[in-house]
Amino acid sequence: MSEGLFSKLKTRLGWKLMASYLIVILVGVVTLVVAVEAAIPTAFNRHLLGMQQMIGSVHGMEEMSSDLFTNFRAAVTESLLVSTTTALVSALIVSLFVSRRVVTPIRQMMEASQRIAAGRYQERVEVAGTDELGQLAHSFNQMAATLEQTEAMRRDLIANVAHELRTPLASIKGYMEGMIDGVLPAESDTYQQIYHEADRLQRLVNDLQELSRVEAGAFELKRRPLAVAELVQQTAARLRPQFEEKGVSLTLNIPPGLPLAHADEDRLNQVLLNLAGNALQYTPSGGTVTVTAQVQNPTDLLISIHDTGVGISAEHLPHLFNRFYRVDKSRSRAGGGSGIGLTIAKHLVEAHGGHIRAESPGDGQGSTFSFSLPLA
Ligand code: ADP
Repeated sequence: MSEGLFSKLKTRLGWKLMASYLIVILVGVVTLVVAVEAAIPTAFNRHLLGMQQMIGSVHGMEEMSSDLFTNFRAAVTESLLVSTTTALVSALIVSLFVSRRVVTPIRQMMEASQRIAAGRYQERVEVAGTDELGQLAHSFNQMAATLEQTEAMRRDLIANVAHELRTPLASIKGYMEGMIDGVLPAESDTYQQIYHEADRLQRLVNDLQELSRVEAGAFELKRRPLAVAELVQQTAARLRPQFEEKGVSLTLNIPPGLPLAHADEDRLNQVLLNLAGNALQYTPSGGTVTVTAQVQNPTDLLISIHDTGVGISAEHLPHLFNRFYRVDKSRSRAGGGSGIGLTIAKHLVEAHGGHIRAESPGDGQGSTFSFSLPLA
């Protein structure tokens, strides 16, 4: 066998299939020939002896018996040859059919995976049938779709981060250039503005770091039975000065004897601060923010933060928890918002096994953010 053919046999599944059929046929034929060679003379003599006994001794019987045996053996050999050839031809046809059925989809997947590895994430393979190969093709397509989505998210993230960094950096550069050119006075007010922009950058970087941690699930939840009523009161006490400063009233609506939740205190605090902070930011002076906690069903606690603020129109509601999504970019940015807070809150609530949702009757009609937590 030449080197080329041998290596082909080793690397091509179709060839391997055909070779395995041929080996089976060869073993079958050899076994048959050996069995025939060993069994036929004895069986033939036995039957001939039987015939002799039946018809009595006939003249020339010896010669006739040897002649008969030679012809019989020729007939057996001939039928062996015919059946071997038929078996070989059918092995060839069957292996061609099977290899086309098995090898073609595998080869398609191999080629598609190479194209995906080269960055063409939109590649998919044809799913034919529901057998294991069909299921493999289906899983392959699912994997490709996930990769495509992850890649799109990665690209979006980089574009968003670049965009978010650009604004404060451009402001800092503008103030510095103004001072260098003598257009802006080098005094406390200008430094204050630069400090404000640098502070925003720092907050953005911190938020991004936190986002990457929660998105990767790289944080530990230290869950224990937790008195949510107490935690809400502590958070309210912390935020009250800011509410008073803006002229927004903060009301708590927590029934006595609320059961304990199974939650991580720091993480829950983070979610409450984010939602109550947003409610304050998007509620004008004279408005009200109400925090309610109640048992939702036998297994969950529901915490809602309702405000009488700017509200959210229906088309924005489904996107609020996407990272960097802001309804009113300039208003949010002026308040130092990066559009990441709700994304982090969603991840934290879901890590507890809860759900978070936003509701609003529309622009100018206030909003309600609620999330559930499992009871201890
Ligand atoms: P940001 O840091 O910009 O506030 P968030 O992820 O916390 O980012 O919120 C995303 C967007 O959702 C905000 O930019 C704002 O448009 C909207 N939003 C959040 N909370 C409220 C609210 N209580 N009332 C109205 N809009 C809100």
